[in-house]
Amino acid sequence: MAQECIFCRIIKGEIPCSKVYENNSLLAFLDIAPLSQGHCLLVPKEHVVRPDTCPSHILIALTQQIGPLAKAIITTAKTDSYNVLVNCGRNAGQLVDHLHLHIIPRFTSDNALSHCPPGKYPPGRMEELAHLIGQSL
Ligand code: AMP
Ligand code: ZN
Repeated sequence: MAQECIFCRIIKGEIPCSKVYENNSLLAFLDIAPLSQGHCLLVPKEHVVRPDTCPSHILIALTQQIGPLAKAIITTAKTDSYNVLVNCGRNAGQLVDHLHLHIIPRFTSDNALSHCPPGKYPPGRMEELAHLIGQSL
């Protein structure tokens, strides 16, 4: 709920943050528990939960800001690498139910994100899944 949402409270100025950037529709600030130095969160000012339920004008505004923000982060962090991450739903690790993009600068051997071993499909399953997902669009 928007009233209790920690990011809405940050946007309203009720809770402090280390602000990096702000415009009419977006706010970027440092993550309080960074996976690496310079880890930023980019959030829409409107309370929306995740991309699949979010109006497209908000997604457009967010994605337009990824490039400039990422460039500023990696320039400041003196690296050429970063991850852009969106956790959607509890099983994906979403703890704050207000849509946010993590932009995480990455450094040699920083172990910031653990890597999962790649899976594989049984014969035919890949084609079946591609077909089913395509049909659901
Ligand atoms: P997620 O697991 O994708 O929902 O990520 C939520 C992120 O919000 C975590 O990385 C937290 O460290 C971060 N976070 C939570 N509260 C604050 C806060 N008050 N200021 C900055 N970052 C926060
Ligand atoms: Zn919110």
